[in-house]
Amino acid sequence: MSKGKVYLVGAGPGDPKLMTVYGLECIQKADVIIYDRLVNQDLLQYAKNEAQLIYAGKEPGKHDNIQEQIHQWLVEKALQGKMVVRLKGGDPFVFGRGGEEAEVLVKHGIPFEVIPGITAGIAAAAYAGIPVTHRHLATSFTIVTGHVRSKHGADSLNWRALADGSDTIAFYMGIGNLPYICQQLIQHGKDPETKVAIIEWGTTMRQRTVVGTLQNIAEKAEGAGISHPAIVLVGEVVKLRETIQWFPELEGEIVDTK
Ligand code: SAH
Repeated sequence: MSKGKVYLVGAGPGDPKLMTVYGLECIQKADVIIYDRLVNQDLLQYAKNEAQLIYAGKEPGKHDNIQEQIHQWLVEKALQGKMVVRLKGGDPFVFGRGGEEAEVLVKHGIPFEVIPGITAGIAAAAYAGIPVTHRHLATSFTIVTGHVRSKHGADSLNWRALADGSDTIAFYMGIGNLPYICQQLIQHGKDPETKVAIIEWGTTMRQRTVVGTLQNIAEKAEGAGISHPAIVLVGEVVKLRETIQWFPELEGEIVDTK
């Protein structure tokens, strides 16, 4: 039997219409779809009736051995001659472990393609009315994981370089470490009054945005009960939301521009 092929597909940030045309074509043709927790499940209605749908969701903090299992599924199904779609939230190569999966496929000689998706850091910001760069406010933009502390408390991030070198910073998976992130940025030279926006469930009907400063955002986010998934966006571009905000957010949204 000839080998199948694997498509590592980005499903976009949440709103199903933000998926690429090519990614959607892959969903329509797939024999097997292995999808993540943050993938909008409305997209699965485009799958063939006979397609096998496998949920591979990871709850934050509870990773078990699911990644190993995913590697096994990818290899097994492809060796059975199937067309396999590995569907991930946002972009498959931005904190999606898509790189590791591609390495496994190479190791087993399985053909694959990578189909980029719109990543949450840019899309959630855009839906909150915040451009991540702007000619007068930000000439650089950095994507950083908020999972910066290991089990032993060590931190691998170069905070000084980050505080000095990037105008806009998007932290993914940053909610659990929010007070620490803010404290580190201030300690390494960012102005405590630097604007911060937290966008929860960006681009979906559940989107909520909380705005504050490095000094007070942790308290505000806690007060608003902000949880996963959320982007923590740091930088002066956040103030453009006052002018550009266009997407209707949840009833009772917190529009606080201080
Ligand atoms: N590959 C994904 C990121 C996966 S890591 C991408 O490119 O977007 C998971 C983190 O992404 C979450 O903890 C959160 O920080 C962010 N995220 C994903 N979807 C989001 C959404 N709709 N709104 C806000 N943040 C989101």
